[in-house]
Amino acid sequence: MKIGILGGGQLGRMLALAAHRLGLEPLVLDPKPGCPAAAVAPTICADYGDREALEELARCDVVTYEFENVPAAAVRRLAESVRVLPGPEVLLQTQDRLLEKRLLRRFGIPTPDFRAVDSEAELRKAVDALGLPAVLKTRRFGYDGKGQRVLRRPGDLRPAWRELSGQALILEEFVDFDREVSVIAVRSRRGSIRYWDPTENQHVDGILRVSRAPATGLAADSLHRVRRWVDALLTELRYTGVLAVEFFVRGDEWIANEMACRVHNSGHWTVEGAATSQFENHVRAVAGLPLGSTRCIEPSTMVNLIGTMPEARSLLSVPGAALHVYGKSPAPGRKLGHVTLTAPDPAEIEGRLGMLTARLGVPSLLEPARAP
Ligand code: AMP
Repeated sequence: MKIGILGGGQLGRMLALAAHRLGLEPLVLDPKPGCPAAAVAPTICADYGDREALEELARCDVVTYEFENVPAAAVRRLAESVRVLPGPEVLLQTQDRLLEKRLLRRFGIPTPDFRAVDSEAELRKAVDALGLPAVLKTRRFGYDGKGQRVLRRPGDLRPAWRELSGQALILEEFVDFDREVSVIAVRSRRGSIRYWDPTENQHVDGILRVSRAPATGLAADSLHRVRRWVDALLTELRYTGVLAVEFFVRGDEWIANEMACRVHNSGHWTVEGAATSQFENHVRAVAGLPLGSTRCIEPSTMVNLIGTMPEARSLLSVPGAALHVYGKSPAPGRKLGHVTLTAPDPAEIEGRLGMLTARLGVPSLLEPARAP
């Protein structure tokens, strides 16, 4: 069975590896020569809109994707001749923060209060309605904290507007959260749904730095409530594949920041820490295979390697460290790999994390998460 993958970054690479393991044939499309997936799977190097490339991909049995920003026209064209999973409708909605929030709310999932902003006058009105601080974001193409500004005082409005205008924008209420937690689920073609343990995420400068699983100290009944919301969304949309929803948690309140209809950075720990990884279950789901258990085998902490690649020798000298290198050239803010630490109990992981951060030279990783 041939499985097409739109996007050949690290997520595409790890999906391709999971597909190989199951005896499936991945075929990747990515415009960047030498993208991370190209080292492990046949890769067509062409624009997403390239007619011939799309025709070749359409000869696969199923097509999936590793990131949201595949041009809508390319996805629609593909979907005319091949099954695209998760379906194009949900993909197109998650490409736009405004549509995404409306979708979440349709299923009763709380989001920060928001206003669409198309002019400076509308920005002022939105700030009057939501108050300060607030977060101004581009509706599309934002990731890793890019395309967003926190507005703290009235004087911040004009410079933020000047920087971001020209694109459709959204103003969001600033959520003074206690923690950030992601909920990652998978739904099979036949409708069975499984969840991995919730993951606590720590961002630095808008980029995910550390994920700890299972997140501790979450009230069982609130997690149950959140899973019921996500169940409803997955079932009603007849969703197939992995879905990640990132939440701000404030007391007992869960407020969705965004969702990703793909495998997610905060689920990388599942490769070592869970019975079946997010990559394998995503491939199983879109290929129409039965899902594997999502049971957590060992507490896990994932640390992203960003900007520069430390020496493998020093990282691997930390007990319980698994290293994943994506094969990308270093650049500031670029995710180059990750390390997953596993240990029988969370206290032991924190000790190992201390050793790892000392080797990375970033002791601030141990500080608790804070809003930007
Ligand atoms: P995003 O690109 O929307 O995932 O935002 C990146 C990070 O910025 C989030 O993980 C939060 O740490 C922070 N952030 C984004 N939106 C808000 C918000 N409305 N209130 C508080 N913090 C936010």
